[in-house]
Amino acid sequence: MTQPVSADFLPYLNWIDAQQEAMVADLIRVAEINSGSYHTAGVNQVAETFAELAAGLGGDVSWHDLPPQQVVNDKGELTERPLGRALQISKRPEAQLRVFLCGHLDTVFPRDSSFQQVRWLDDNTLNGPGVADLKGGLVLMLRALQAFENSPWAEQLGWDILFNPDEEIGSPGSSALFPYFAERTQVGLLYEPAYADGNLAGERKGSGNFSVVVRGRAAHAGREHHLGRNAVRALADFTSALDDLNGQRAGVTINPGYVTGGGPVNIVPDLAVMKFNIRLEKPEDEDWCWQHIRRLQADINSRDGLTLEVHGGFGRKPKVLSPANLKLAELVRECGQSLGLQLEFKPTGGCCDGNNLAACGLPNIDTLGIVGGKIHSHEEYARVDTLAERSKLTALILLRLATDTDRSWLQPCAGQC
Ligand SMILES: [Zn+2]
Repeated sequence: MTQPVSADFLPYLNWIDAQQEAMVADLIRVAEINSGSYHTAGVNQVAETFAELAAGLGGDVSWHDLPPQQVVNDKGELTERPLGRALQISKRPEAQLRVFLCGHLDTVFPRDSSFQQVRWLDDNTLNGPGVADLKGGLVLMLRALQAFENSPWAEQLGWDILFNPDEEIGSPGSSALFPYFAERTQVGLLYEPAYADGNLAGERKGSGNFSVVVRGRAAHAGREHHLGRNAVRALADFTSALDDLNGQRAGVTINPGYVTGGGPVNIVPDLAVMKFNIRLEKPEDEDWCWQHIRRLQADINSRDGLTLEVHGGFGRKPKVLSPANLKLAELVRECGQSLGLQLEFKPTGGCCDGNNLAACGLPNIDTLGIVGGKIHSHEEYARVDTLAERSKLTALILLRLATDTDRSWLQPCAGQC
């Protein structure tokens, strides 16, 4: 049975409707600041803009410097790439019930991308870098918190916001912060875009990114071919055998996606580099994958004059819905119904920070952002009328959490990560 929104809440939700134009202006402003994950100055500028937009919330602001990302380059060397800063805003750390709100500042569009400006596709559809993924979500989240703070129930609930700078590259620096937030909060709300049809994500696959470096021995291809040890051939053997693992375990897929190596064809190549991604469904799939990777690695390393190194690992654990997470999904569905939205939760092979938070034991809904589509492409768009719609959804979730008397399902986090 659909419950209408409590009349007590209506003034605070109606206030959000009046914020629609201001939210659109904020979205255009932040979308036109390039914040490709490695454009740290741009990422930091977006963070500073959000700190300014959040000033009215009266939270405590802190900045986190993150360690650089380790990346294997085409020469097989481990290099470091600096990351932007993470921004934390917190209120009422002493509250009994605390909520974690999170969204990323970065986009997949680098500083030199040709995709830098927004444009209107029609009255309601805005095309632009990060308008859906995820800047629209951050804009509507701040308005929802403001509506909540305007209400007399604000004292019932404390919150932490984390704006992280590196989600689009797998949160290599910021994921170390998640256990800290998971421990001080009981519910996670994340602002990845909702699907184009308005629905939300449920279970998510886990994911790992790996780099393989093979070193052999160079030799003249004509005069001393027998003295060479061909790194390209060894890498090809490893890659073929790895790809053959596809189909051997339900839910596990392996994608060799990048390869480089060798040089002039009159030299036996002594270096080859390959990168691959694995998706999996169950936490125990990781062990299965590692066993096979190690076996294939040992095979190459047993060959004369050849070595194979493996870098990387499973940065995103599968998101499996715990009983508390199912309860939270039910609450979100009810809030949606009260606002006239029929929300469904659909499993996905994609990953986000919701994976890591679930692995930390924090029940979370991770697609509370704007409704949009074609993300990670120059056709990325957002439906701007959903700024107010989804902002009200979050505000209502916060109001319900603050006022519902049954909190038995909200366990303090046991710190599983
Ligand atoms: Zn995203």
